[in-house]
Amino acid sequence: MTDKKYKIKHDRPNCIGCTACANVAPDFWEMSDVDGKSDIIDGERKPDGCEVLDISEGDFKANMDAAEACPVNVIHLINIGTKEEVI
Ligand code: SF4
Repeated sequence: MTDKKYKIKHDRPNCIGCTACANVAPDFWEMSDVDGKSDIIDGERKPDGCEVLDISEGDFKANMDAAEACPVNVIHLINIGTKEEVI
């Protein structure tokens, strides 16, 4: 039984590297030295360039704050149980 309730999905190819997510939620987001875009810390990079990470309910708020701070709306949070996209 996993305690992971949400999935972060980062549409990384469309990230503009503004640093807002890394400033708002530095425990989960960092800026890449390679291309200046952000990365989910310990996230999994998919072949399409998107990144994902499953998180617990306790980690939801920080990532919601990051998603709300993203000016181009490339951070999404999905309820794993219902598959509903919360943002
Ligand atoms: S806030 Fe959005 S655009 Fe800015 S670095 Fe993070 S993911 Fe990229």
